[in-house]
Amino acid sequence: MLGKSPSWQDTDGACSGYLVEQDGYRLLLDCGNGVFAKLRRFVDYTEVDAVLLSHMHADHFLDLVPFSYALTYAPRQQPVPVHVWPGTDDPARPALHAPAGARETFRRVVGAWGNEDLVERAFALNEYDPADELELGPLHARFCPVPHFTPTCAIALSNGSSRFVYGADSAPTEDLVRFADGADLLLVEGTLPRPEREGPRGHLTPEEAGQHAARANARKVVITHISDELGDEWAKAEAEKGYGGDVEVAREGAIYEV
Ligand SMILES: [Zn+2]
Ligand SMILES: [Zn+2]
Repeated sequence: MLGKSPSWQDTDGACSGYLVEQDGYRLLLDCGNGVFAKLRRFVDYTEVDAVLLSHMHADHFLDLVPFSYALTYAPRQQPVPVHVWPGTDDPARPALHAPAGARETFRRVVGAWGNEDLVERAFALNEYDPADELELGPLHARFCPVPHFTPTCAIALSNGSSRFVYGADSAPTEDLVRFADGADLLLVEGTLPRPEREGPRGHLTPEEAGQHAARANARKVVITHISDELGDEWAKAEAEKGYGGDVEVAREGAIYEV
């Protein structure tokens, strides 16, 4: 867990970012603001094989900007020796799997200051369709569209023997319950202190997150996307009321084996 904040960062925290490792393969699941610095505490960013985005909200992709600058301008990524770095013929260029339309969104964001192709030059960009199934090294990825304010997919990652499901950002939905059925680990958002009072729903409360996990018979449940201004203990108690068992609240640096 690199970050678990909602759309504004916790004190010293980061927004959504989860590093998934399998047999030496490294997948970064979402890359929200603050995630790049946290990633660097745990792994060498040039050794990330792929980034996979659930949706195109700032708190899930914005740190692709500094990540792209690092891949573009870091001394060790250059073809000639720079300072203590010997130069390389093979600079890192991770895969980037993002929802349809992502290329245009990246161009608009970094194009605001004239760097239109920054992200697509730094990463090998692939826009996925929710019906796609991706082979990401030893991991098999599947998608499930969930109701949110912009096209968003829950993501299931399987290594052949166990399954990790990430609910992304989502309003209450039976689709997530079905998709997460029997998950060995369900990482599900519990953003709201209470349901939205007006307009379409787009997030879950911790209790609703727990209820979704219970209906999906998830074996282990971690709730995320929760502000430090709500308090972990409150969120945990609410989620456990919904789940009927032990629930953990995501925290930076936590590691789960699935
Ligand atoms: Zn969102
Ligand atoms: Zn979010």
